[in-house]
Amino acid sequence: MDNKRIYLSLSEESGFEQEYIQKALETNWITSGGPNVDEFESALENYLNEKSLISALNSGTSAIHLALVLLGVEKGDEVICQSMTFSASANPILYQGAIPIFVDSELDTWNICPEYLEAAIKDRIKKGKKPKAIIVVHLYGNPYKVDEIHAIADKYGISIIEDSAEALGSSYKGKKCGSFGDFGIFSFNGNKIITTSSGGALISNSKELKDKAIFYATQSKDEAIHYQHSQIGYNYRMSNICAGIGLGQLKVLDKNVDSRRKINSFYKEIFRNIEGVDVFESINEDYFSNYWLTTILVEPNKNRNRESLRLAFEKANIECRPLWKPMHLQPIFEKYPYYGNKIAEKLFEKGLCLPSGSNLSVEDKDRVKEVIINFFEYK
Ligand SMILES: *Cc1c(COP(=O)(O)O)cnc(C)c1O
Repeated sequence: MDNKRIYLSLSEESGFEQEYIQKALETNWITSGGPNVDEFESALENYLNEKSLISALNSGTSAIHLALVLLGVEKGDEVICQSMTFSASANPILYQGAIPIFVDSELDTWNICPEYLEAAIKDRIKKGKKPKAIIVVHLYGNPYKVDEIHAIADKYGISIIEDSAEALGSSYKGKKCGSFGDFGIFSFNGNKIITTSSGGALISNSKELKDKAIFYATQSKDEAIHYQHSQIGYNYRMSNICAGIGLGQLKVLDKNVDSRRKINSFYKEIFRNIEGVDVFESINEDYFSNYWLTTILVEPNKNRNRESLRLAFEKANIECRPLWKPMHLQPIFEKYPYYGNKIAEKLFEKGLCLPSGSNLSVEDKDRVKEVIINFFEYK
């Protein structure tokens, strides 16, 4: 059998990209911003179908950074962040010289825990500072507890930045992820559900904020004939070529969501009769996940654990990865405050992300299945 590497999540061309890229080249729009960027923004605004406005940027990380800038987060301010996430959720806090305050996950969605969130807010206020923002993540495409989390944020008057990098196509109570926060963000990095090769978007709810984000993202140029600047500028705008790729990709977004959800069902079926392994599943129908990645928890025993399963996949040239290592355990972040009770630690110990790309072929699935069957039969 062909033993080519099976990856966790790969980008895949839709076939519709070339036309947009070609047009950009022919019309000499080979720069940041341009007609493809405007069209990409409108298409995403239509997709979200809310009062959400999109500023297309060069990455999801830039989008989080600009959200903090727009919220006026400055040196010494405190920003709460879900601990279990990719480092890009938290790094922009440090770009601003602000202080991250990490909060544990809960077991239903693996996202920020409402109880520890409120405990953290109360304690920070008691210590003298109300946090300026809360960064919450829809991890692996699974919506966080939107109602509970937003009720707490409202109660204390704290803004939410909704990190929806992994959750384009997911929804909560029928409303699309990305449209809940004071700001939301998407990522179109190569491994996400659709790609622009590299890119991101900031979601806001007013024309003024959208324009302000684009102003910052294009070097904060004041109205003047010469270049004049009265604020710090950033080079964060999406390129017109990348937006062309994005327009082609948007046409297959629904199809990609469908594929990833089918892959999730494929894994559920395999693991149905294997004891000690749980495939992550949304708690109820309010939580619609794009299942960007299918994840499992492996209960360790004397014969096997998460790592031995990962190595069995690796031996078959199949890429799997542990869950995100919580931020409060990362060398760069461990000195900052943390509120929780080791839920994220335990998930990290037992959790594994399985190959979930929408281009996983029938043969690929057979190879994945064979590894699982052999591993659990003989151990
Ligand atoms: C991918 C990702 C980001 C960052 O997006 P980039 O476009 O790669 O900068 C932020 N947060 C989470 C949770 C992500 O998975």
